[in-house]
Amino acid sequence: MRAGAWLGSALLAAQLAAPSYDVVLRGGRVVDPASGLDAIRTVAITGKKIAAVSTDPLKGRIEIDATGLVVAPGFIDLHSHGQTPEAYRYKAMDGVTTALELEVGASPISEWYKAREGKALIHFGASAGHIPARMAVMKDSGSLLPRDAAVNRAATGDEQKLIEAAVRRDLDEGGLGMGMGIAYTPTAAPDEILSLFTLAASFKRPVFVHMRGGNVVASIQEVVADAAVTGVPLHIVHINSAATAKTPVALQMIDGARARGLDVTTEAYPYIASMTEIASAAYSGWEQREPEYFARLLWPATGERLTRESFARYRAQGGFVIQFGNTEEMVRAAIAHPSVMIASDGIIENGKGHPRGAGTFARVLGVYVREQKALSLMDAVRKSSLLPAQRLEAMAPAMRQKGRLAVGADADIAVFDPARVIDRATFENAAQYSDGFRFVLVEGTLVVRDGKLQDGVTPGQAVRAQ
Ligand SMILES: [Zn+2]
Repeated sequence: MRAGAWLGSALLAAQLAAPSYDVVLRGGRVVDPASGLDAIRTVAITGKKIAAVSTDPLKGRIEIDATGLVVAPGFIDLHSHGQTPEAYRYKAMDGVTTALELEVGASPISEWYKAREGKALIHFGASAGHIPARMAVMKDSGSLLPRDAAVNRAATGDEQKLIEAAVRRDLDEGGLGMGMGIAYTPTAAPDEILSLFTLAASFKRPVFVHMRGGNVVASIQEVVADAAVTGVPLHIVHINSAATAKTPVALQMIDGARARGLDVTTEAYPYIASMTEIASAAYSGWEQREPEYFARLLWPATGERLTRESFARYRAQGGFVIQFGNTEEMVRAAIAHPSVMIASDGIIENGKGHPRGAGTFARVLGVYVREQKALSLMDAVRKSSLLPAQRLEAMAPAMRQKGRLAVGADADIAVFDPARVIDRATFENAAQYSDGFRFVLVEGTLVVRDGKLQDGVTPGQAVRAQ
């Protein structure tokens, strides 16, 4: 046998003996914020895990050409009110592989998890919700958010005990920290809030909070002070819409708290308008508003701008309203800030909602990275995957395997075209899938393939605190 022929057959034998993987993503630009890797690699998946990240040509049962595409850890949305099969489809098409309801949270939480287990397209989880607990104990008639009893009056001592017992039970049953929306329960006095922070601290779990309404500086002072005295890790939700024109001072305060050693984080979504329930405390005192105020409100169910008259009618009826209240400059400041995570605050229901429910992550990549160059691609991926995973991993060790594109990590992967990725959801028509996510995998299962949602797959797992 000639030497060349022998070498050839040896190579063939080696190739035949080489492990064959379940899925191989070949030749994409692998972006892994944990290691800093940003290079052309082939990624191989066995079962639910990443088995290889290599410059070698690997073999797989399913082989995907990822040339020209970015291969990133799947995105982790810390603030997703949409927790239905419908909402999960928009998330998956936006690169999200884990969607968590941490602001409002859930109560009773075991029922919430049970309703989704084995049925979800992507991973899911919730915090122990102070809002739903307070609504149940105080017999508020609202749906997602309070609209009467839990808004209008203080809880009695007995009610406070019952609310805390519900939150404690939900933390015991795996709640991912405690969710709070003080702006929606304005009659919850500072003592009541401090007592709840103390409860979360006893579990060593974070508080995810929509701060009190009114003065932004005072609202941040309240939650940062409560975090300092209780030791609770603090996450302030949607700093863009919570702080609006005061976003720079809000970011400065959070940076300052972190510099002083406090565990304080925040998040933002890339839109100049917010959305909340029209019957909630966000609109207490609406009777005193000027006509221009109502013109900044959009009713997504019909697409109309509101007047005093239509506002009154819809407030009595209930539902979501969109409010234009921020500037591009403030949104960009929050999105580009290095430690601010990306989180959608989104919900799409029966084809209606705010575009953030469908377009948040594509919009950051398309508008703020590609078009405006306000931040790097690596930073955008970090803020959408690694930072949220790190926020959760002390209480939920499963998150140590997410937000990373490395051997041994969960095969939650978003593959997108960096030249094309963009949001398509608009304020007039929010229920539009993002463009540019070519492949999305949830623990090794393709939920998006060639830009198309896959039917009949439910690889999503519950994320819980331990
Ligand atoms: Zn909120």
